[in-house]
Amino acid sequence: MTRDTIHHTEITELINALSPLAATVRTEALHWITTPSGDWHLDDDGGLYCHDCAEKVIAELRQADPDNADDYFLDGGWQTEEEIPPICPKCGVKLEASPLAYWGLWELEHFAANPPTPGNAAHAYEVREMLVALEVTDTQYGDAAQKAAAIARKLVSVTPDTGGE
Ligand SMILES: [Zn+2]
Repeated sequence: MTRDTIHHTEITELINALSPLAATVRTEALHWITTPSGDWHLDDDGGLYCHDCAEKVIAELRQADPDNADDYFLDGGWQTEEEIPPICPKCGVKLEASPLAYWGLWELEHFAANPPTPGNAAHAYEVREMLVALEVTDTQYGDAAQKAAAIARKLVSVTPDTGGE
């Protein structure tokens, strides 16, 4: 069972070009909480947190349910595959995850309407994650990958040297 995929090599180059600026953005490992029933804890904001906020949430849960306090577990700390860029709902920090294609399409829609600003680290990070999501795609997302590359090119393009003419 293989599907036709395309590796967009230009996108790999753009990812590398954006990485130094993107790396200046603070991100945290993604965590979640397992409850006594074995399910994830989900609140109105979703259930993905940075480590510090997850510690606070789990403390509140244990306090509210002292009989089962030992059955709440802090889990995660590694990158999971996500379809939407996860942000800690408590403190707003970007959480580290592996972007799936849908994430790239979601960001592409955003950036097509709101072009990213060259030199803006948060934008560089978000564009890089969009590119990672679309670096290797099913053929059906080839056009989306090209559009994402065009957006990224504007962030990394250097002024052509036309001097001396
Ligand atoms: Zn947080």
